Amino acid sequence: MNKTQETYEIPYRQLGKARKLIAKIQKRAAKLGKQLPTITEGKKVTRNVTIDLDPHGINTTQIPVLFVEVTLTHTEAIKIAGYEILAAIDHGEAVNVLRTYDNAYDFAPWFEAPASCEHCAKNRRRKMTVLLRDNSNNVLQVGKTCLKDFTGHDPKSALALCELIEQLRAIQDLDEESLDFGNASCDGVTLQSYLGWVIAETRDAGEFVTRSAVYESGGSRLATADAAMISGYKVATDKDYDDADKVIEWAVSLKPETTFDMNLQAIAINRYVTRKQLGLAAYMAQAKARADEKLVQEKLRATQVAKMVHVGTVGKREAFEVKFSRVSSHENQWGMTHRHVFYDAQGNELVWWGSYNLEYREDVEPGDALSLKATVKKHEVYKGTPQTVITRVKVLECAA
Ligand SMILES: [Zn+2]
Repeated sequence: MNKTQETYEIPYRQLGKARKLIAKIQKRAAKLGKQLPTITEGKKVTRNVTIDLDPHGINTTQIPVLFVEVTLTHTEAIKIAGYEILAAIDHGEAVNVLRTYDNAYDFAPWFEAPASCEHCAKNRRRKMTVLLRDNSNNVLQVGKTCLKDFTGHDPKSALALCELIEQLRAIQDLDEESLDFGNASCDGVTLQSYLGWVIAETRDAGEFVTRSAVYESGGSRLATADAAMISGYKVATDKDYDDADKVIEWAVSLKPETTFDMNLQAIAINRYVTRKQLGLAAYMAQAKARADEKLVQEKLRATQVAKMVHVGTVGKREAFEVKFSRVSSHENQWGMTHRHVFYDAQGNELVWWGSYNLEYREDVEPGDALSLKATVKKHEVYKGTPQTVITRVKVLECAA
């Protein structure tokens, strides 16, 4: 019995699909009463893959694609009754295509063999024949439709296992399945399509991966800008394209502060991305997301500030329950002073300028809840924020 080992390089993005197929293969093998094939996932490797940017392959580009090695080991041959399946032969006009399941046998003579059948000996036109090896090591060619009569067993399950192994092998093929450019036009794509793919890809991958992050990680993954070109369009929804439109509108109306912003805006106005601009264009969605987030934070801060009031009575020594937020140190002509900021449970701000830094204490650090005794020095407003300035601060209790 030959132990057959096949190693495939599967695009990393297809690994989920490969794992599902492998599970099916194992289930099918178990049904045949066979020892299960074993699967091992090996090392990952990044390869540059050339892709066409147009249907004629005039413009091409190289993109890094992450592959993972998968090794499939069968310790038992695929059998129908006592017959081992060596290969399935698809008979073509000039030459046959062989799907082989044994790595020791020399299949060379079979590429131009006619579609004959050992069983019926009729020379019919057949699309597929199967090479079987019997217990005496004879190799026999049998028509697919004669397999059941010839072996005395239903070949369906064994052929299905062959088919699954074929599918696993096919996952390695990147060209059409994984690198199709969808509605990409000549040397670039429309910005709306591309951003739709970027948005879909970012969601699918759970994060936006910049090209520089890929470079720093040694190329162990694919940048969103490139991944989107490969498969983003497959998962893009109508909403993604709508969101892409919103990103474009945002970039068009942007008030550029940097060269980067100006470039973003130029691409948005063109509504078209050349392949050299992919990295920049992909970032457009991120840039909008960040700007949106900043706006949300600013609004949130504004609502918080609007609710803030002064606490305590000026001149009075009082107790305060606060959270120690932060401290900054400032040097002036009298030496160092430390500006401590606290918030009470209602979010009101208390500030203490002290010559002592609370962080010097080993039991106190920012984030701690403190019970203070302090004198209210004054109530003031700093940049729109009501602040209660306290002095002669004494920490009574600290809870980390
Ligand atoms: Zn036959």
